[in-house]
Amino acid sequence: MVTEDKMLAKIIKLTMLISLTLVLAGCTYQRSISNNQKVQVPASPTLNSDIKPSHNLPSTSNDTNAEKFPPEVPVLYYHSIMQEANNEIRMPPEQFEEQIAYLSSHGYHSITPTQLYESIYHNGVLPQKPFLLTFDDGYADNYQTAFPILKKYGYVATVFMISGCIGEKGFLTWPQLKELSANGWDISDHTQNHSYLTKLAPSPLLSELINSKNTLEKGLGRSVDYFAYPYGDFNDKVVQAVKKAGFRMAFTTLRGWADSHRDAYHVHRVFCYSNMGMKEFIRRIQHPNY
Ligand SMILES: [Zn+2]
Repeated sequence: MVTEDKMLAKIIKLTMLISLTLVLAGCTYQRSISNNQKVQVPASPTLNSDIKPSHNLPSTSNDTNAEKFPPEVPVLYYHSIMQEANNEIRMPPEQFEEQIAYLSSHGYHSITPTQLYESIYHNGVLPQKPFLLTFDDGYADNYQTAFPILKKYGYVATVFMISGCIGEKGFLTWPQLKELSANGWDISDHTQNHSYLTKLAPSPLLSELINSKNTLEKGLGRSVDYFAYPYGDFNDKVVQAVKKAGFRMAFTTLRGWADSHRDAYHVHRVFCYSNMGMKEFIRRIQHPNY
């Protein structure tokens, strides 16, 4: 994986932020993060993107994507919904609710990963103005803070849970995961130990994936079919292992909306960060190649 020089400052900053978050959270996988230099950061939070759309954009803000085929769907990704100064992966609850209220008042509908998968790869039907909302890692505030807000607006979300962190300080517990699942949330996989998967040999790589899938399926009593690469770190070997472990779709941290131009193991997502502001949030929810 090659990282551009101009991204170095952001990578260092984000690495520090993630390390700080994990130290505070206390989960045991923090060691593997702080010892590792090879980080692929989430999409750049640059407010004025120089990435130009490769196809026609909707002409008005209320014309997004609704019945387009094949569909293009924004897959929003967050980590923690909590107030913390200078930590871009902790979204202040007030700002999160403002974003959710915007989606609600503009006619957006939350969908599940299964709806996304079926619509993009098997001609399934989507509601008008669909979006998929995801949380990486499985922080306790996803239940304590985000869940009540989303419930208020009739929305569901997906948690990519680090199975080895379930019940650890600051992370979701089994009862919380089961309650979210019972309320229409999808609990998906984010490995057992949040490892950098490209650094693992074939056998431990497969164990990371299969162990966490088995743990989640046993604990939840349902199949776990979707996966998100920790740190967005993947290569062809990782993709093959994710397929072999039995997942049918995997999410990256690459910017852009989900669409059928990419296969099911390279789904792009929309990074939502704490200082993005409403203007940038709206831009990302309206433009597939924001
Ligand atoms: Zn993660």
